[in-house]
Amino acid sequence: MGVDQSDLEIKEKVINQLRGVVDPELGSDIVDLGMVKEVDFKKTGDLHITIALTTAGCPLKAQIQKDVRLRMKNILEITSVKIEWTELTDAERAQTMDRARFNLSQEDVVTQIPRTTKSIMIASGKGGVGKSSVTANIATGLAARGLTVGVLDADIWGFSIPQMLGVDGRLAGNEETKKIVPLIKNVGTGTLKIISMGFLVDENKASLNWRGLILNRAVRHFLEDVEWGDMDYLVIDMPPGTGDVQMGLAKMLPRSDMIVVTTPSKTVQTVATRVASMAQSYYLRIAGVIENMSAFINEEGNYYEIFGTGGGEKLAQELGVPLLGSIPIDPFVSNGSDSGVPVILGEGHAAESLNLIVDEVLAAVPKVNPIDCTAHGTLETSVTISNN
Ligand code: ADP
Repeated sequence: MGVDQSDLEIKEKVINQLRGVVDPELGSDIVDLGMVKEVDFKKTGDLHITIALTTAGCPLKAQIQKDVRLRMKNILEITSVKIEWTELTDAERAQTMDRARFNLSQEDVVTQIPRTTKSIMIASGKGGVGKSSVTANIATGLAARGLTVGVLDADIWGFSIPQMLGVDGRLAGNEETKKIVPLIKNVGTGTLKIISMGFLVDENKASLNWRGLILNRAVRHFLEDVEWGDMDYLVIDMPPGTGDVQMGLAKMLPRSDMIVVTTPSKTVQTVATRVASMAQSYYLRIAGVIENMSAFINEEGNYYEIFGTGGGEKLAQELGVPLLGSIPIDPFVSNGSDSGVPVILGEGHAAESLNLIVDEVLAAVPKVNPIDCTAHGTLETSVTISNN
């Protein structure tokens, strides 16, 4: 009996998706680390994966399982996923560790972003769709939930994060470590650690030549030479589109998730697809889509779909990812940006939607609990999950 070609294709798709699942402790993907032992797909839509962990009872299993489940949702042919867990043998474990060490030595940039920090790139196809507003609000919303959140304003040409977060100042260095120290803003019991080009240049006097010269190095410095310290999340305001800075970031932070911001309009949705395909070619995971400027809601609660309708949902479907939420057109968004108090901390339709979106982000990109897998424990051997 010959091997069915379509089954092979699906198996390949599965392996490709699994390449995006990173063992948070070892910092490499589970395929590369030799932890994926078997992938078996049946015509009925049932997928069976065997994953070997470094240690039985590794608490990171829950994280890996969640990541695998989310990624398998991208493959429409799969209806249920059965994951069987085993443990690497001593010899395999030694090989896996060697591989992880080798990968680390090959990383051309050693970033200061802790391995347990989840980085989320907020991207858009074009400018003006509200990407920076979404970044500022999501970061603030996460901090308001008691988390420590880094904010990297990588929109070098159009930096607006300092203004939106109401933080002004100049970056200074730590004499001892010779690293740049981010500016800090406390939000409730949480903390924002913010880095932006705006803290380095005088907006009105900055010479374009000078900016151009350091542009390619700047983002790299922000990852290499900033004393970020502990963070639950790093939220990155990406420049719009798919230029060198974006690709550089994708390469330097290969374990990032990306959220694509779009508006209901068809043109915006088409250009957003390009950003998504860049992300996919770097094996970044697209965690979801956010639709901004969805509709204007007047005081009587009537909806006016000024920029059309359905663009976010359509893009999410096209990418096979969830629509994390929609934000209406609300003057409080721009007022919040201008006053430096993000709208998410206030009231109104946009604040409500943004708070729901932060909860969705927490579910789609779960925070890593920094626990190691040194303790031996029992191993629950298999789990079956419906893929709907
Ligand atoms: P981008 O980062 O995509 O260029 P910005 O976040 O800077 O976009 O937003 C562009 C402009 O639109 C800003 O003036 C911002 O205040 C405004 N804006 C963004 N989202 C909304 C919204 N939902 N309602 C009203 N104004 C918005």
